[in-house]
Amino acid sequence: MPEVGFYCDACDRYSTWIPPFRAGDDACRHCGAANPPVAADDVDSGRGPVELRRCIQCGNPELYARKDVPQQVGCAVVLASVALATVAYAIWDFPGAFVVFASVALLDLLIYRRLGLVVVCYRCHAEFRRFPKREEHAPFDMHRAEEYEADTRTG
Ligand SMILES: [Zn+2]
Ligand SMILES: [Zn+2]
Repeated sequence: MPEVGFYCDACDRYSTWIPPFRAGDDACRHCGAANPPVAADDVDSGRGPVELRRCIQCGNPELYARKDVPQQVGCAVVLASVALATVAYAIWDFPGAFVVFASVALLDLLIYRRLGLVVVCYRCHAEFRRFPKREEHAPFDMHRAEEYEADTRTG
């Protein structure tokens, strides 16, 4: 089941809706403000899973794909592995710490490989889950992102 996630224009918090779009789906679940998607028709109708050609929320054609790692989880895993390795180092010295660190890294890799992809809009940061991936959904490009940030600042 595809899912569209967007950041509310009014309060900047995160909401989601499930295609096909229905009236009221664009209401922010935090403040109730409407965030009408400009390209809701793209995911409408019973044509089955549709390819993302542009951002459904703002219509921007430039999107990137990344692993769908919830930020808190990624951070917690890194902190936990550092803590574990430090403890292991204190107890067993270097070889033990290395083994612990290597096992955590392996675990990370296993988790990472199981994660789905999320397609993200460079402009409004809307997130699209479980849509078919397209070739032009390249990995995140910092340079592109900076261009968009600059655009936003100057209006
Ligand atoms: Zn809101
Ligand atoms: Zn967008």
